[in-house]
Amino acid sequence: MKSKFATAINCIDGRVQLSVTEFIKNSYDIDYVDMVTVPGPDKLLSEYKNIIEIESIRNKVLISCNSHNSNIIFIIGHYDCAGNPCAEVDHL
Ligand SMILES: [Zn+2]
Repeated sequence: MKSKFATAINCIDGRVQLSVTEFIKNSYDIDYVDMVTVPGPDKLLSEYKNIIEIESIRNKVLISCNSHNSNIIFIIGHYDCAGNPCAEVDHL
């Protein structure tokens, strides 16, 4: 049986890597999670200012989708984020 991949646009923060991977694998019947990391991705994407970085993320996500047939993409925000220091409600 073919492996099922998901794609996560995640923070670089080492504290969230394993928890995000395990959550996605367990919640969505996924075998592997391709991780695209930048500091505070929820801020970067919602502000839509740094187009070069957003295009870089897009290219990496396309590799995950095209080469691994990922058809589910997660955007991660987390508490105590150095790349996006704000209240939990703002992450949400
Ligand atoms: Zn972070």
